[in-house]
Amino acid sequence: MADEKTKNATRNPLRWKRQNAWIGLASDDEQAMESYCRDYLDFLSTVKTEREAHDSAVDVAEQAGFRNLDDIYKGTGTLVPGDKVYRSWRGKTLLLAHVGRRPMKEGVRIVGGHTDAPRLDSKPNPIYEDSELVLLDTHYYGGIKKYQWVTLPLAIHGVVIKQDGTKVSVVIGEAEDEPVFTVTDLLPHLGKEQQKKSMTEGVPGENLNVLIGSRPLKDTEEKETVKENILRLLHETYDICEEDFASAELEIVPAGRARELGLDRSMMLGYAHDDRVCAYAALRALLDLAEIPKFTSITLLCDKEEIGSVGATGMESAFFENTIADLVFRIEKPYSDLLYRRCLENSEMISADVSAVHDPNYPDVSAPNDNMAKMNCGIVLSKYTGSRGKSHASEASAEFMARIRSIFNAAGVAWQTGELGKVDVGGGGTIAMFLAKHGMDVLDAGVGLLSMHAPWEVAGKLDAYMTYKGYKAFLADTTREG
Ligand code: MN
Ligand code: MN
Repeated sequence: MADEKTKNATRNPLRWKRQNAWIGLASDDEQAMESYCRDYLDFLSTVKTEREAHDSAVDVAEQAGFRNLDDIYKGTGTLVPGDKVYRSWRGKTLLLAHVGRRPMKEGVRIVGGHTDAPRLDSKPNPIYEDSELVLLDTHYYGGIKKYQWVTLPLAIHGVVIKQDGTKVSVVIGEAEDEPVFTVTDLLPHLGKEQQKKSMTEGVPGENLNVLIGSRPLKDTEEKETVKENILRLLHETYDICEEDFASAELEIVPAGRARELGLDRSMMLGYAHDDRVCAYAALRALLDLAEIPKFTSITLLCDKEEIGSVGATGMESAFFENTIADLVFRIEKPYSDLLYRRCLENSEMISADVSAVHDPNYPDVSAPNDNMAKMNCGIVLSKYTGSRGKSHASEASAEFMARIRSIFNAAGVAWQTGELGKVDVGGGGTIAMFLAKHGMDVLDAGVGLLSMHAPWEVAGKLDAYMTYKGYKAFLADTTREG
């Protein structure tokens, strides 16, 4: 084996060749990666909704010494460097901050990902009986390919809020001894006409009805005896009635654990790597900071990205700005609007979201000439997103790209650049634009996936770990003076 000197001597410094990062992976990195990915697989297996992601993040953050900003610092309580706080928004969106040494007017460092994922949501009046089968009527959430959601084992995760405000948490279909649910599909023998249709029409959205029961209740006056039986079961188990579904958020998701993938166990198959593979990395990066960071370091886990970041818990809401204002107020006296605006302008952010990697089954859509990300080549830096002429892209500046690559190179983070497919073929967006509107530097960077938005998505272990390592290096930011 060649030593470092010989290897460097044979590398042409003028050339930049993206490399499979397994080749040069140090053994301590490999151990850290395996341990990190085990933790991540556990997280991904139990956390299947934005509420569950929020609650799980609050749990681990509190164990790591983070305190609820709203509870602990009522009134004018001040924060000092080293303090760790979080602010929760409606049980779905979360901001965690580790107060740094530099003043807030110099800006903060943010890594922000989203915890919502494509799924089927129960409608407000979901339970109906048809042909002596009981089904749950759904409205899909986010960009799904509908045909992918039939004939899978499905679980139900969510909450039912009763009229008196009581919250009933529901998880059914994950434990070995629990039943699962499914959306049926036509047998090929009767599917001739269906199979002539386009893939977007073959399974209509209104057909995504989840089968939840078939056994009639004996000795009842009710007409729909199968539905009556299901309603009685629900009442016995959860003390809920049919009207309670009007105030429920039940998400129907793939049942079962996330798993290692491949004979060499180099990849992970799981539901909602988009975007929990980046959100988890952002959370761990903040929690694992060894020292008080130079700049106040923030991890943002937000909801509603998959439907355009709208609504009270999406990034379009004022939650982020309000919380930054609150932090400025508690860290720097006297508070002023100008100080808050300077903080936002001088901040830097990594928009922590997934990208796509080259799929050998579908090479035609990939960006050519090494501009498509590849599995195992590290965290993907997307200078811009958007579509058709960078429309609606939040483009990172060349200066900020330079800073990030210098931080990543110094920290030994494997990274690559990537575009979401060929020009004019694809496109997409993230939360980047909602932060960039404040004038701060923002770059999209995260894990490249295969089968993004499918019920089971594929991520490389190495890419997941390098993403964590990259976020941590960015938050710690030891490359600048001071
Ligand atoms: Mn995403
Ligand atoms: Mn997505």
